[in-house]
Formats: sequence, structure tokens, C-alpha cells
Amino acid sequence: MTVDMSADVKRLSGVGPAVAVKLGKLGINTVGDLLCHFPRAYEFRGNVKTVASAEDGETASFILTVMAPPTSAKTRTGLTIFKLPAGDGTGGCTVTFFNQNYIRSAFTVGASYRFYGKVNRRGRTVELSSPVYEPYSDKLLPLFPVYPATEGFGSARINRLISAIIDRPDTVLPENLPDEVIQAEGLMDRTDAVRAIHHPASLEQISEAKRRLAFEELFIFAKNARSRKKKISSGPRAEMSPCDCTPFREMMRFEPTAAQKRVMNEIYSDLTGKNGKAPMRRMVSGDVGSGKTVCAQFSAYVACENGYQTALMVPTEILAKQHYDDTAPLFAMLGKRVRLLTGELTQKEKNAVYAELQSGECDVVIGTHALIYDKVVFKNLGLVICDEQHRFGVSQREALLKKGNGAHMLVMSATPIPRTLALVLFGDLDVSVIDELPPGRRTVRTAYRDESSRDAVYAFIRDQVDQGRQAYIVCPGVEETEDDGLIPIEALGEGFNAESYDREMKRRKAAVNYAETLCTDVFPNLRVGYLHGRMKSSEKTAVMGAFERGELDILVSTTVIEVGINVPNATVMLIEDAENFGLSQLHQLRGRVGRGKYASYCILMADSPGQAAESRLKMMERESNGYKIAEFDLKQRGPGDFIRENDEKIRQHGALKLRMAGALDDARLLYRAFEWAEKYTED
Ligand code: ADP
Ligand code: MG
Repeated sequence: MTVDMSADVKRLSGVGPAVAVKLGKLGINTVGDLLCHFPRAYEFRGNVKTVASAEDGETASFILTVMAPPTSAKTRTGLTIFKLPAGDGTGGCTVTFFNQNYIRSAFTVGASYRFYGKVNRRGRTVELSSPVYEPYSDKLLPLFPVYPATEGFGSARINRLISAIIDRPDTVLPENLPDEVIQAEGLMDRTDAVRAIHHPASLEQISEAKRRLAFEELFIFAKNARSRKKKISSGPRAEMSPCDCTPFREMMRFEPTAAQKRVMNEIYSDLTGKNGKAPMRRMVSGDVGSGKTVCAQFSAYVACENGYQTALMVPTEILAKQHYDDTAPLFAMLGKRVRLLTGELTQKEKNAVYAELQSGECDVVIGTHALIYDKVVFKNLGLVICDEQHRFGVSQREALLKKGNGAHMLVMSATPIPRTLALVLFGDLDVSVIDELPPGRRTVRTAYRDESSRDAVYAFIRDQVDQGRQAYIVCPGVEETEDDGLIPIEALGEGFNAESYDREMKRRKAAVNYAETLCTDVFPNLRVGYLHGRMKSSEKTAVMGAFERGELDILVSTTVIEVGINVPNATVMLIEDAENFGLSQLHQLRGRVGRGKYASYCILMADSPGQAAESRLKMMERESNGYKIAEFDLKQRGPGDFIRENDEKIRQHGALKLRMAGALDDARLLYRAFEWAEKYTED
């Protein structure tokens, strides 16, 4: 039976109005939404341990034979405890259950079951408390899905709803990829892929299903973007003609870099219609400090010369003020009027700006989302510029664009992302990259070190602090996630090895304690602040504020440091277990130092991380260009990490959440999805 993907979930049995509300909270409104609610992780029940090797606190599977019927006893608090004696060839184990009367008759003495749960070990005594269990057979699936859930509607209930559909052998899902594409790419069909992702029979199946589902998402994503782009080109356009740009060039306080010149040329061609009849939709991407502002100013100049107004929208009041201070004097010299519009202005001041925008006296307005309000009316808005593009959703940008007729748009982004990837992910934008920093910029000296240099590294940090500087120490921990023994979907695939994964997790747990001992043992006489994932956001703000004011010498952080933090006095960034980060992430982290007038350093600690990781860390030592790093990273690790790290940005942009593409480790697949989408986009 072919599933009607667009049917309301309420049509399913077991989904009444109350359940429908809960599902709605998870973004599940249709049957299709439900089937595309993919597991976030799996319990790896195939990871079977022996009783003798069970470690206290771990979550694992055991295949145990039941020795005797369960005994029951009452606790002081009135609970009934059932104790089931069981064991494997290596030792005995007590399996306990609370208050579940059916346990009395649930097991057959002498039969084997697979139990999955948390181990309590005290010396030789091993106990499994409230595990899940299934009669043992060699057909048991090794992986059990765990879903993103909501209050009052847990993963198990979601699993039951999904199983009711996909476990029926005659269930078929409508295919949404062209047959030609499936054949050419060797993809699983949709029905098999959806079945496999929910109830995988093997790691290979997960890999295959992930590949197919990621491809599908990217294909649809790219198709949507291409159609949006086509639609724009059939709409109106603010016409601009070539103008004399010499006055602007003479006003510039520096010689533009080759990259800046190239980008300005691209913008000029867009605005003056040399690149076709669609209004400009361009993203300028460049590392922090690469000089994007002057490109934005240049485009505003061209708009002004053509008699159009420009709106520059930025995410914060501080940024708006900075841009205003930078731009207003420059444009005043060119005879143009720049105004600032933020929520902080008095009503009277705002009204004055509104009036100037409506009459056309004001040429360029710089502001926050205050620009979107209805009261803001332009005489003839011809250009919209968004700085830090990801902070604004498509709808906010559209709202501003609608205040003009066929207005052009320029968005600026400070995350280095390989051009090829940007073209795919932001398919309705043209992409310009400023892949060069202005001359004379000081780079952050970067060194990769192992355990043998630890004392020297600490001494170096103490020395910097003695000189009055501050330091960051980043140690990735897993304290944010419960130790639930789950394996996230991104980690699973053909090459997955349960034992090394276990080892890695144990090591990371140790990192959390390490962060604490840094404060107490390593730098006892320095002022050390500690930032971790479980803190309330007010606590985090307090610690970061103290660091910003110089009241702390060292900021130890187990999470990735907030992007907003800017402390020019900080000169050292020590990153522990650096091999666990993507290179682009390391590059972003490194960008936290080197913001002031002092020489700055980044130390990447990793202990025998293996050859591939070592070559990545060595690359960080010699390379300071964010784009080269990102390209290298994309080749080595595939696009999944980029997609995950830029998740919010992509969702804001494409108005589509990529659920599976974040698990993609093959960049070629992404490009092919994009090429196929081109081919299948209707004219
Ligand atoms: P971002 O790309 O982060 O927005 P900005 O445009 O703010 O970078 O530029 C950072 C700094 O570099 C500014 O002080 C700017 O004046 C300066 N700058 C930009 N381009 C050049 C250049 N070609 N030569 C020298 N300095 C430049
Ligand atoms: Mg900027």
C-alpha cells in the first residue's frame, strides 16, 4: 500500500487530538513528517559485553541465561523490587526491575535474553537495573532507534507509531527522486532507505540509508533554491547605469586588495545589469577583518549615484553604530547623507529619520531590524545590505526588500566556507569570496604540541599572564550530554568501531575533571574562570563579563567559546584534544586571539592522534587563510560537519531543515545532488 505522505497524522490510529498537539511540537503534522522524523541516535544493543568485563556505570548489552524465577521484595518506600538471577559463561548477574508485576511471568528459566541497560558493579557483584530485554535470537537488530522527543511523548511512543507503518511488508513510500538519478547514483529506493534508517539491520544499511536520504534532501534543497532564483529574474529590477567611481576610490583610506577589487567588480556588474536582468542577490563571504565593509560601502555608492537609497541592516546596535561611524564621514565627503536607525533612538529622532527616508533626503540608512518596521517607508529603496547574513531569516530580508521595487541585495558572511559548498547551500545567491587579508595583518602563531610539552605550555601561559595578558583554554567535554550510552547518528556507518568509540567517550569524560583541576591544581594562584555547558546562561554571561573586564586571567571552557566574545588583551588560546575539532572550528576558535596589539599564540594539544589528524594539525600551524583551511577540511571530512556547524544559517536561508545531510561524509555526493537538481529544475 502506498503511503499518503501528506495525510494528517490524526488519521493514524493511536493519534488523538492530544497526541497530535505533542507531535506538532516536534514539527510532525503529516504522515510524511512522521516517517522523516529520523532517529537522533541509536542504542547499540549489538555491542554485547560479558558479565566479567562489565564496568560500573556503563550502558551495554548482555546475553544472559535466566537461572531461576524472579524473587520479589518490598522496599521501605513501598516499591516492589524483582530480582532475576541470570548469567553468561563468565559470571552471574542480578537483573532488577521495579514495580513491574508482569516480570513475575515474563521470563522462561533456562532461556536466553538480550538485556540492554546500565551496569552497577560492586566488586564481584554485578547488577543490571531496569534494562530493556528481548528473547535472544541471532536475528535481533543490533541498533535500536532513539528519537528526538518531547515532554510527555517519548522516543518509544514515536517508535511505535513509525513501526506501525513501516513494519507492514506491503508499505511503499512514493519515490521522490527521478529513476534516472537513483540508477546513476546507485541509491537505495526511498522505501528501503526509510525502513533502514528507523530499523537498521546493520551498520552498512545505516550508511546506505544515510547516503540516500542526504542526497534526497540536498536534491530538493537545491531545486528549491534554483526555482527561487529563476522566480527573481522574472520580477522587477531597480535599474542602475554605469557611473563615475573615481570619487569613491579617492575617498578610500587604503589600496584595496586584489580580492576586494574583484568583489567590487562583481557587484558593479550585477548592479549595472551586465550579469543579466535579475536584481543582484549576492553573498560576500570573507574572514573577519578581510575588509567586507568597503565592498558594502562601494555598492551603496553606486546605488546613490543612480538616485537610489540603500538600507544596511546589522544584527546589533553596537555593529550599527560601528558601521555608521565608519561610513557617515566618508559619505559626507561624497555629498551623501547617512542616518542611523536603531531601537535606542528617541521617538523624535526616529521620526526625523522616517521623514528623511520618505522624502529621499537620506541616501543610506544603517540600522538593526528596526528597519523592518512598517513606519519605515523609503522614497526609492534600491539596495539592501545585510551584515552577518545568518542572523536574519529569509522573511526579515524579504520584508526589507519589499520596501523597494526590484531592490538589489548583498549579504555578508564571516564564516569561511568553501566556494563550491556555498554555491550549493546558498543556491539562489551568487557568491563572492574575499580570500585574502589586507597586508600587514599579524597572524596568530600556531603550534601543535603533545603531552611531553605540557609543563612548558603551562609555563608559557603563566608567563603571558605575568606580562598582563589573558588566556583561553578550551577542553572539549561531553558533560552536556547525559551518559546514556547512545551513539549519535552522525557517528555511525560502515567504518564504525564500538570499542574505539567507547574509549574515546571515556577519555572525553576525563576531560571534564581535567577542566576542574586546571582551576584548582595547575593555576592555583591565577584567577581562573570556568565555563561549561550545564551552566545557566546568566552564569555564563557573568563569567564571560569578568573575563572581558580583565578580572580573570584564564577562561577555561568545555564548550566552544561564544562567538560574540572580544577580548583584545587575550593572547593565548590553548586547545586540548585539538584532533576532535574540525579545522574550520579550530580556525574560528583561534580567531578569538590576535585581536589586540600583542603577538598572539594558539597551542593545539593532541597526544598521538594518528597520522591523518596530525597532518591536519600541522596544516593549522602553517596556514592562516580560512578558505584554504575550509577547502582542506571539506576534502578530508566531507560536508557533514559544515552543514551541522552552519545549521542555523542554512535553515534561515533555505527555509528547510537538513536532517540527514549533516551526517554526510562525502563531498562528491553533494555536488552531484546539485548538478542533478540543475538538470531537473523546471524552466
Ligand atoms: P570585515 O570583513 O570583518 O567586515 P572590515 O571591513 O571591518 O572587515 O575591515 C577590517 C579593518 O581592515 C578595517 O579597519 C578596515 O579599515 C581595514 N581594511 C580593509 N581593507 C583594507 C585594505 N585593503 N588595506 C588596509 N586596510 C584595510
Ligand atoms: Mg564586518
